[in-house]
Amino acid sequence: MSIKPLVILPDPLLRQVSQPVARFDADLRKFSQDMLDTMYDAPGIGLAAIQVAEPLRMLVIDLAKEDEPKAPQVFINPEVVSSSTERNIYEEGCLSIPDYYAEVERPAKVRVAYFDIEGKKHEIDADGLLATCLQHEIDHLNGVLFIDYISRLKREMVVKKFKKLAKDRVPSRLAV
Ligand code: ZN
Repeated sequence: MSIKPLVILPDPLLRQVSQPVARFDADLRKFSQDMLDTMYDAPGIGLAAIQVAEPLRMLVIDLAKEDEPKAPQVFINPEVVSSSTERNIYEEGCLSIPDYYAEVERPAKVRVAYFDIEGKKHEIDADGLLATCLQHEIDHLNGVLFIDYISRLKREMVVKKFKKLAKDRVPSRLAV
């Protein structure tokens, strides 16, 4: 089990556009397990690779409730193929913006194409929480954060707060 340090706002890494995964090998399998371990430890329901400082287009999700068995899902090179005009509002949070939540409106349904850990291509139709979670995580791969959907004033307040917090914190990525 390997838990990786999380990248926290305002780290500029969070604004980086991630690169497609090119090799489906043992290293990728190990990394996906590290991502899941990190997500479970946090705990969270979704995590993009850039949140553990790897600019790769991959994400993990587990929407199982506490009393249900784990249901890890790994999405590699995911892409939203189509989205509904119908929209949904969820209160979102992010492991990279701890303890901050805001309502975000997104398409209620999305069709997502992705590769599994074996390199096999799939397409799924997602709705509800899965649709929102996939869109939130795919945004990370493009350097987009959920606070980009809230008002500018609120966003500036959040960023300011995290800049202040970062000053008092030892950068985890420099830890050895
Ligand atoms: Zn997030």
